[in-house]
Amino acid sequence: MERTCGNGTLRLSDAGREVTLIGWVQKRRNFGSLVFIDLRDRSGLVQIVFDETISEKVKDVRSEFILQVWGTVVARQDPNPKIPTGEIEVRAKDVKIINTAATPPIMISDDTDALEDTRLKYRYLDLRRPSLQKILMTRHKVCMVTRKTLDSMGFVEVETPILARSTPEGARDYLVPSRLYNGKFWALPQSPQIYKQLLMIGGMEKYFQIARCFRDEDLRADRQPTFTQIDVEMSFVDENDVFAVVEKLMQEIFMEIRGYKVEDHFQRLTWKECMKRFGSDKPDLRYGYEINDISDLFANTEFMVFRNVLDNGGEVDALKFDAAAGHYSRKKLDELQEFIKHNFRAKALAWLKMEKGVLSGSIAKGISDAEKQALVERLGIADDDLVLIVADKPETAETALGALRIRLAHELDRLPKEETYKFLWVTDFPMFEWDEEEQRWQAAHHPFTAPRVNDIDELFTDPGNVMSRAYDLVLNGYEQLSGSIRIFDQNMQEKVFESIGMTMEQAHQKFGFFLDAFQYGTPPHGGFAIGLERLIMVLCGTDNIRDVVAFPTNNSAVDLMSDSPNIVDQAQLDILGLQIAEKAKKQ
Ligand code: ASP
Repeated sequence: MERTCGNGTLRLSDAGREVTLIGWVQKRRNFGSLVFIDLRDRSGLVQIVFDETISEKVKDVRSEFILQVWGTVVARQDPNPKIPTGEIEVRAKDVKIINTAATPPIMISDDTDALEDTRLKYRYLDLRRPSLQKILMTRHKVCMVTRKTLDSMGFVEVETPILARSTPEGARDYLVPSRLYNGKFWALPQSPQIYKQLLMIGGMEKYFQIARCFRDEDLRADRQPTFTQIDVEMSFVDENDVFAVVEKLMQEIFMEIRGYKVEDHFQRLTWKECMKRFGSDKPDLRYGYEINDISDLFANTEFMVFRNVLDNGGEVDALKFDAAAGHYSRKKLDELQEFIKHNFRAKALAWLKMEKGVLSGSIAKGISDAEKQALVERLGIADDDLVLIVADKPETAETALGALRIRLAHELDRLPKEETYKFLWVTDFPMFEWDEEEQRWQAAHHPFTAPRVNDIDELFTDPGNVMSRAYDLVLNGYEQLSGSIRIFDQNMQEKVFESIGMTMEQAHQKFGFFLDAFQYGTPPHGGFAIGLERLIMVLCGTDNIRDVVAFPTNNSAVDLMSDSPNIVDQAQLDILGLQIAEKAKKQ
């Protein structure tokens, strides 16, 4: 169709130009014999003026009609600084109504007050909002930069099956019944993990895929049942090689999208160090405030609370916030205590304040002067500082203070004012996690991750202390990526299955094809997957994952627009050899 340019691209320098524009009617206003219409397309909107010679033609035009307009760009008498085209308007000479529109059920504007469920039901209208269009375009750009960057480093994009065999990422599978083999099922991949490792055995050396993944999990705020990963696998590598690829990719993406230069090399911390210093395996490093283990200062204490904790293998941890004493009344400190008791099962929160050179607070009377003095020196406590202390089991004390660290940094407004991206590699995670429910060890990452052991027996003697060669990339307190160096030895792979309670028989039944492949010269390999949605969320500054997905499901995993999942015809079930249980029918 005849069209000169995007509506939102016109500027004062275009004054005098004859243009043909197409777009949706954002708003229409009558002003005496003049009609003003804001015409919107993907590039933005522009004001069109219809004078008395032509206004009759648009008298029935309403919001979301589509118009084609022929006119002249002119400078505006009363510029509108709020919009990029605000210095000009277009004087219409002719107009054609391309299509009419029913009154939309939601207001099409970034400051819409429509409820999210209504917006999701009419997602195609919601998508007309400029902010959502901008996010989808950013997402597209990130994929373009990813493909270009990885291609330049020798990676090859390979597609892997969607109808596949179950992969062990720890979530529930989505199953698809087979028509040809009634009673058998495909699983939708939780990730391409097994396939990408098989591609390494297949000699591809450097693989990537912008891959759809499917996990039937109970949804949390930042999850969708279907999501996308930038999935990568490489042969003949160690951690340094993998990290270099990710660092380069992040540099390119952040430069292209935000114009932001990220560090050449990201900081690295082991999981243990992270927990000790920040009480979290995904610390936000945009601010300091580290946790201090002050147990040694109380080694001979007579203060019974600390004495008991230390005697029982616990520790005393402290967190200091400078210039914060005045912000926290007794009542507010009680609130903090409730917060950690409730969420982290910490027994108590102790606190100290320094005011006019005097240390006061909940434990000021309990500890000795010498202990106070040692504490002041160790933490460098100055006037108006607040010190929070938790004495508990190490993990409890660390995670409770870790949560307070985040909460106080936000409450006290201690985040940098300018745009800041702090990346962190977290390495050496525990290999196994204890599953209380099933009373057995589980792979903390997935069971293909290489353990850091000198000898295989360590897997069985003290599983809780085996570390793995898994790594996460954390950005401003959010996990952006996880991956690992993999096992490439058949014997080791079988032992790891065994250590998570899978008999050799079960392992072969589930992953026999994979284990078999290991005997034919498997290269050492490793890889990672970046959560694309979370990355886009950071780049676009939204904390709602549904904002970065064109057609998301709601919080209850329902697609409100197409009303799915839904029932199917009996005939379809018959072909698949399926019957719906009476119980399910009632639901
Ligand atoms: N497949 C893993 C995941 O989805 C990532 C990896 O280890 O490469 O978390």
